[in-house]
Amino acid sequence: MTQRARDLRPSPISATVDFDADGVQHGFLKLPISNDESAWGAVMIPITVVANGEGPTALLTGGNHGDEYEGITALMKLASTLKAEDVHGRVIIVPMMNVPAAQAGRRTSPMDGGNLNRSFPGDPDGGVTEQIADYFTRYLVPMVDVALDLHSGGRTLDIVPFAASHHLENKDQQRQALAGAKAFGAPTAMMMFELDAAKLYDTAVESQGKIFVATELGGGGTTTPERMAITERGVRNFLIHYGLIDGELEVPAEPQVYVDMPDASCYVQSEHTGLLELTVSLGDRVEKGQIIARVYDMTRTGAEPVVYHAQRDGMLVARRFPAQVNMGDTIAVIAEVVDSLDG
Ligand SMILES: [Zn+2]
Repeated sequence: MTQRARDLRPSPISATVDFDADGVQHGFLKLPISNDESAWGAVMIPITVVANGEGPTALLTGGNHGDEYEGITALMKLASTLKAEDVHGRVIIVPMMNVPAAQAGRRTSPMDGGNLNRSFPGDPDGGVTEQIADYFTRYLVPMVDVALDLHSGGRTLDIVPFAASHHLENKDQQRQALAGAKAFGAPTAMMMFELDAAKLYDTAVESQGKIFVATELGGGGTTTPERMAITERGVRNFLIHYGLIDGELEVPAEPQVYVDMPDASCYVQSEHTGLLELTVSLGDRVEKGQIIARVYDMTRTGAEPVVYHAQRDGMLVARRFPAQVNMGDTIAVIAEVVDSLDG
């Protein structure tokens, strides 16, 4: 047990499922709340455990941000269909980690404004969102060998579907995570640079030595048949790759594109407020200096738009989704296309 775990009181969250039992269980993580609507109430986070004998444990999560529907939808479907006899080991499925946010259709929690993926490692004495983070950090993650977290751009971003791993000090851990990211079989695999890594779920999992695969699978606050197919295929491939279920990996029709995000210069952020016109599409290759966006002043006609140029060669892997943009919003993310992600 870490120093941190010893110092903290037990989580107020309790599970209605038995993590040690074989079979399929649908239940809840119950987080006590007391408010005007419910004096002795609970936030009920749906959870499914599918277990069958010896083998590794996988934790599959969606709804870390509540408006990222590709993962939520794929995991709701998997939770209803995965059979115990098809599993070697244990699959824990939490389609909506931040269930208050998901049910409100928002990125963050309407209960305390919490952004779950900026709340790790969490706090059992904090707000609802920090309490959820703490439960994952100290109870669920220690049970697992491999973890897959399904994100997308939500309402404000659209992102090319990719699976990613991070640069880690432990190169064996990094190699095993990268292999899982490639096996996921999205059109793109990435070595990802995070703008703000310290409070991420990703970091909470990786710091416990667990194998972690991150994904971004679309966005815009909805799903499409194409992105759902990529997501569902990826979840299945992930489980096959790490030995949880039998089957053949399904590979994408086109060869996977490898991209690297070496530093923060990949992110293009707006220094203006106005109407955004992106002149390149998701997945397009761009050259340094090329015009990628114009921002129009919405208060007058006859003014020249502000022009944004690509700061590097690469591929447009993410774009702002709404047409209106404020100062500081990420307009575009340009990643470097590379031949290999190893090393
Ligand atoms: Zn997200």
